[in-house]
Parts: sequence; structure tokens; C-alpha cells
Amino acid sequence: MSIGEPRSGEYEPELVRVPSRLYAGYVFDLDGTIYLGSQLLPGAARLVQALREMDRKLMFVSNNPTRDPDEYERKLWAMGLRASSSEIVNTVLTTTRWLAANAPDAVVFPISEEPLKRALRDCGIRTSEDPAEIDIVIASYDRHFEYRKLQIAFDAIWRHRRARLVATNPDRFCPVADGGGEPDAAAITAAIEACTGARCELHFGKPGEVMLNAIVEALELAPGDCVLTGDRVATDIRAAREASMASALVLTGETRPDEVPRIPEENRPDYVLDRIDRLIPREYWDELGWNLEAGNERM
Ligand SMILES: [Mg+2]
Repeated sequence: MSIGEPRSGEYEPELVRVPSRLYAGYVFDLDGTIYLGSQLLPGAARLVQALREMDRKLMFVSNNPTRDPDEYERKLWAMGLRASSSEIVNTVLTTTRWLAANAPDAVVFPISEEPLKRALRDCGIRTSEDPAEIDIVIASYDRHFEYRKLQIAFDAIWRHRRARLVATNPDRFCPVADGGGEPDAAAITAAIEACTGARCELHFGKPGEVMLNAIVEALELAPGDCVLTGDRVATDIRAAREASMASALVLTGETRPDEVPRIPEENRPDYVLDRIDRLIPREYWDELGWNLEAGNERM
């Protein structure tokens, strides 16, 4: 399988349902939607360029907390896609903002990678590894997760009976370029829940309310005039529906073509795309100099 092909099974052209209109705002998931690993997916570069030429509002939204918006901006530029950090909302931002607004004096223990820790420090949130003073344990996508961290979370929640459990995002795994994935925040959350009996109270990613509010506020557009595109039904399509935006499922990440007919009614996307540049209705393609075969260029 090469980058950008639907993940498995025979590709079924009849699955594809493309928009017949343009929207004022375009919200994009990143992993599995705009890129996989460090490669842009086919059509992403020319789509973003065309939307900018047409003065559409763009936003890039990710549940992935292993980078902050500035690092995402650099990653996108390095792949040849122009985006500014002000157009990027991810769970480092939503988690930090929520804590600053709702629990500014809490002592937190982030089981996370450096970008979240740095963002918490930058906004004056105190972090600690002392279970006796931790108020909030944040489960996150942490590729340095270890037993020591689980013990601290256990002690803070179960032994000292003081800490609440929240998570940056609800994802089970993050898709990577070779067709595989990496265990994500849900795995860390589950480990803490399993040993403490506590339940994660809140997360700051799609399709949760904190993230949806952040998206809607940043767009400053009527949700009905926006389309959210992503590769995951349970997070991206759900988020679009919760926010009353149109939804587009792109088959270049988690969702396999054979899964599309089985998507439950309440999560069914408005559009299904084999590649992301199908978001632009065909009638505009000549004007843009596009043809059906091209667009694999990573520009
Ligand atoms: Mg994704």
C-alpha cells in the first residue's frame, strides 16, 4: 500500500460522495487527512492552495498533543503546505486553555510529551510529580510512558484520593505512514482507570465540547457554512455533526473503504472522499487547471 491509497480492500468508486458546493470555512484534521507521517497526502497541497486563492477560511485541527501549534506550522511548511499557527488548534492548546480558565491554581501531573509540559509552564500552571499535592492527572499521548508515571497517577488518585483524571484526547491510536499506528492517549487513560477505578472526567479533543467550542470560536463563521474533513468517524465526523457542520470522511487514514457501509446512521458523513482534493466540486477544476489524474504532486 502506498501513501494515500485507501487502506485496504478493493476501492469502491460508488462509495465516493463529493460536495456540489463550496463552503466559507474548511476545517481539516491533520494525521491521516492532510498527511501521514511526514508526507502530504495526494491532493492536499493543491487543495489548500486553491482554497486560499478562493479566500476560504482554513483551520487545521488535531487531537494529537505531541506538537504545539508552532511546531505544526513548521511541520506543514517543511512538507510544502503554507499554514500559520493561528490556523492550528490542537489538544496542547485546548488542554492548556481549559486549565488556565477553569483550574488555574490546580497542581497538575501531565503524563505527556514535552510540548504540553512546556505549554503548561508557559501559562503558569504548576506541575508536580508528588502524588500528595497533585489535583489533576492528565493522561496524554506519551511515547515515554512507564510504570513510574502510572504509580504517581495511582497514588494521586487512589492512595491520596485527591486527584481528578482528565485526558488530552480520546484516541485509541494514531495512524502512521507505514499503515500501522501508535498507541494514543486512550491507552494511557485506560491504564489509569484500570488500576484506580476512577473514570476520566473530560477530554479536550474532538468530538468533545471544549474542542468544538475552540473550533467554532476560531472560525467566526456560521457552522452551516463550514465543512469538517477527517479520517475518523468517531472523532472527526462526530465532531462535525455535534458542531452542525457538514462532514467529509476521507479514506486515507483510519477508516477502511469496507467499513463505510457499516457506519451507524448517527455518524454517517455527508461526503466520502477517496482523496481530499475532491472537496472542490468538479466544475471548478478546469478553472484551477486541475485534471483527474494529476494532483499527486506534493508541491
Ligand atoms: Mg486523523
